[in-house]
Amino acid sequence: MIQSVNPIPAFDIKQQYTTIEAEVSAAVLEVLASGRYIGGPLVEGFERQFAAYHSVNECVACNSGTDALYLALRVLEIGAGDEVITTPFTFIATSEVISAVGARPVFVDIDATTFNLDLEQIAAAITPKTKAIIPVHLFGQPVDMTALMAIAQSHNLSVIEDCAQSTGAIWSEQKVGSIGHIGCFSFYPTKNLGGCGDGGAITTNDPAIAAKLRILRDHGSKVRYIHEEVGVNSRLDALQAAILQIKLRYLDIWNERRRAIAAYYHQFLNQVPGIITPQELAGGVGVWNQYTIRISGEGRNGSSAKYRDWVRNQLQEQGVSSMVYYPHPLHLQPVYQSLGYQPGELPVAEQACHEVMSLPMFPELTDQQQDQVIYALKDCLGG
Ligand SMILES: *Cc1c(COP(=O)(O)O)cnc(C)c1O
Repeated sequence: MIQSVNPIPAFDIKQQYTTIEAEVSAAVLEVLASGRYIGGPLVEGFERQFAAYHSVNECVACNSGTDALYLALRVLEIGAGDEVITTPFTFIATSEVISAVGARPVFVDIDATTFNLDLEQIAAAITPKTKAIIPVHLFGQPVDMTALMAIAQSHNLSVIEDCAQSTGAIWSEQKVGSIGHIGCFSFYPTKNLGGCGDGGAITTNDPAIAAKLRILRDHGSKVRYIHEEVGVNSRLDALQAAILQIKLRYLDIWNERRRAIAAYYHQFLNQVPGIITPQELAGGVGVWNQYTIRISGEGRNGSSAKYRDWVRNQLQEQGVSSMVYYPHPLHLQPVYQSLGYQPGELPVAEQACHEVMSLPMFPELTDQQQDQVIYALKDCLGG
């Protein structure tokens, strides 16, 4: 038992701000003085930089990752009567937007080692109504986009990548969000590229899609006060754009540090009995928005949520915070009762909800803090 030093939070976004405080403050004051708060050169500049970072033709900024996904479905004209395949092990936003456009989410179980969609099970879920697949690069781990695009192409389906947790991740030499037809990003403060408020972006190589997205995000209007269709108000503020332009320059450094932290965790936790560490697929370069382990080994049918929660409490007593992403799979959420899914139908995702816990992970986490996390886990589980 080691004495707890300072408590370690699961994430700490205040600390990152202190490292770029001078730059950010100056940029913010400049925006305030400019009087140009919505749209304008800062937003357009950020869109160009974000597109260039992804080697895509187009980036359309919007108000959130949720809006990015919603607008992506709208621009593909997916709606009532259509089905969209996605994962049950993600944040609700991914499937919520499918329902919001009037389509039906079809959940496919996940792979136990990557926490991402089990690609082998997608084909069986495709029906004549299926229009698109939304793969989520969960926790920053890229989906095998080569295999996924092959499935989509053979069934003539659109692919909308949910990159909310994976800005900067790479699959087979390409940034995620540049491989599918449309990429959707969130700049929620805790994401790898996080603003100081809400924000989102959509990437695509198709200029027609981008042009239509610009209309949809602005009340369905291209020419002022002429409304061609029912759109939304979904804009990135100039303040956020100014801050994100600065942070984008640090993103690769921060992601590199996340990778080093993940490698260190792996090295020391890989051998601890009862812990299953996350693995990276060959071909993928993950950006570790979360470092999520499984607590297993209690009972024959895997672990229970109670056991995982006991481990989390033990850690908390030693000053180590952790999070559970996600405690409930989407197909069993009350909101989706009408879809008729039953417990046991997507067993890998359901089991993951009982076993996962995410350890402290942010670029400013020190080596000593990491040691403290590792000691606390070893102290609790032995090994
Ligand atoms: C955060 C998140 C979203 C939604 O992004 P917001 O900017 O919060 O709307 C969507 N999908 C996933 C996987 C997320 O983690």
